[in-house]
Amino acid sequence: MASEKFSVYPAGVLALGFWREWLLRGSLSDRSSKCGKPNCHCANGEPHPSVYLLQSHDGKLRQICVPKAWQDRVRHAVSDYRELQRLLEEVSELEWKRLQERKS
Ligand SMILES: [Zn+2]
Repeated sequence: MASEKFSVYPAGVLALGFWREWLLRGSLSDRSSKCGKPNCHCANGEPHPSVYLLQSHDGKLRQICVPKAWQDRVRHAVSDYRELQRLLEEVSELEWKRLQERKS
């Protein structure tokens, strides 16, 4: 039965799989930059904080600036992706052990 099968999975896998909407692979990098406008405060003082998402894609590293309004959502999506990956690894490890012990 499906419920029996699911019961061997760490609960978090199901929770993440069904309840979270956003998953994003990559890592976030906090940077600061100058916008280039000569009158801006950043020209002589504090640079503008910015957040970039870095991701390896087709063997290359790509990056995208994350606008402020998206930062919370993207941070959650990135950490959920990691958590899901960790949980999947746990599930895989369980299956490996079952195979090893020939337990169905
Ligand atoms: Zn500026």
